[in-house]
Amino acid sequence: MNSSTYTQEVVNLHTHSYYCGHGFGEVAEYAEKACMQHLHVLGMSEHCPVSDERWVRTRMPFAMLGQYNQDCLRTQNEYVGKLEILRGFECDYLPQYRSFYKEMSEQCDYLLFGIHDLSLDIDSEYSVFWNTMTKQDLYTYTEIYLQALQSGLFLFGAHPDVFMYNYQEWDEETKACSKAIIECAVDCNVALEINANGMRKKMVETSRGVRYAYPHQEFWKLASQYPVKVITNSDAHNPDSVNDGFTLCKTFAESCSIEFSSYLIGKEKDTSIISIV
Ligand SMILES: [Zn+2]
Ligand SMILES: [Zn+2]
Repeated sequence: MNSSTYTQEVVNLHTHSYYCGHGFGEVAEYAEKACMQHLHVLGMSEHCPVSDERWVRTRMPFAMLGQYNQDCLRTQNEYVGKLEILRGFECDYLPQYRSFYKEMSEQCDYLLFGIHDLSLDIDSEYSVFWNTMTKQDLYTYTEIYLQALQSGLFLFGAHPDVFMYNYQEWDEETKACSKAIIECAVDCNVALEINANGMRKKMVETSRGVRYAYPHQEFWKLASQYPVKVITNSDAHNPDSVNDGFTLCKTFAESCSIEFSSYLIGKEKDTSIISIV
């Protein structure tokens, strides 16, 4: 198999276009901006729809999957030799969707996961962005995050520390939950992501001054004590942001004594096989 290694500075694998309803721009615009911003690998990772349309408020309708796939494949062909375009999905994990995500993983280049909703009830949503996180919410979040890490389906876990968006202080609970997530990521050999989108959100005021909504320094300082693979992504929802935040995330990582992993991408016929090394 023909494979190439790419360093983090030329790769972004977390990207959302107009398909999700809260992102902007066409796949082709992302490709254009990615070239202008000197990326070598662009991963499209639209929020993955599920057949019962759960979370449809923040993702494309299930029936639109074919169009998204075609769009990515067409742009991929147009950019051969100029930019490596990978077709992926960001999945919200729940165990009942495991077999569906398994099928999806066989039909695209990679899957990543993020946990945004803590409700187990299909008719209600409990977003980590809209609700103050209680200690119980933090445990629920951690439990689902661990299940996703253990599922064996995902290349990396997005913004593991997103719970700090609405949880005010770093305390014994956040420390214990973060430790569980990091240790599980090491055991399952799944990379964790420092996410630039949290740096674009409103800064959080705390008793010790202002901080990013996420990434959270204490989480990543803890991570630096483990052999966990760490990557960074823009989590762009607009083509202009496709490589936005890399420098800031690199500085942030360095302040936590973290070095980014690299990517190994192999080609087998029309499929890309990607791993984080
Ligand atoms: Zn999104
Ligand atoms: Zn995302």
